[in-house]
Amino acid sequence: MLEIVAVPAFADNYLWLIHDPVSGETVAVDPGDSVPLLAEAERRGWPIGQVWNTHWHPDHSGGNEAVKQAGATVYAPASEAARIPGVDVALKEGDRVRIGEHQAEVWEVPGHTLGHIAYVLRDDGIAFVGDTLFAMGCGRLFEGTPQQMFESLQRIAALPADTRLYCAHEYTLSNARFAAAAEPANDAIAHRLKAVEQARQAGEMTVPTTVAEELQTNVFVRAHDPQDFARLRTSKDTFR
Ligand SMILES: [Zn+2]
Repeated sequence: MLEIVAVPAFADNYLWLIHDPVSGETVAVDPGDSVPLLAEAERRGWPIGQVWNTHWHPDHSGGNEAVKQAGATVYAPASEAARIPGVDVALKEGDRVRIGEHQAEVWEVPGHTLGHIAYVLRDDGIAFVGDTLFAMGCGRLFEGTPQQMFESLQRIAALPADTRLYCAHEYTLSNARFAAAAEPANDAIAHRLKAVEQARQAGEMTVPTTVAEELQTNVFVRAHDPQDFARLRTSKDTFR
């Protein structure tokens, strides 16, 4: 079993450490800030051998060079490699990366950025989805089209229902409030909004999430078509 640890950074980012106790290997997913990440890895005695970047944004890749200097090989999306510090291995759709005996498929999931990738560990029932899908939400469309993001979300949502989705931000409360306004008759959303309010008041994390939870409560996953998705995304951008 892989151990997965969240390292909070900035206002609301989660940097992820994946550790395989069998091989002793450790991967850092999206090391936006090397300082808390390296401190946590050191505290646990987990030297970081690899960085897996999902996209070029600095809050996901700003710590690459420091983690690389500490001994890691940097994997990142090929089409964004020029904008990501320290890339050693450029990844495309269908490529595979490994931690010990565990294998991750590389999926291209454009929308938030054009080159955004996800790391899908099918046999472990885990996916690192960066800023594509959030608990009850999705990333903003900085570079891609509604059609692209709609298809990226549908692809992630077609993973087995018990797949755990590790996203990169704690945005769930804001997403839940929007979801409750967008689907006022959805009991699962109302119930989850209450649970998320309680968790956040207690200072608890609300990620990872699961495909099953998102199918029930993520209005962007539940959008009927790209037009419906676009309407929701635009509405969320100005929701308060
Ligand atoms: Zn981003």
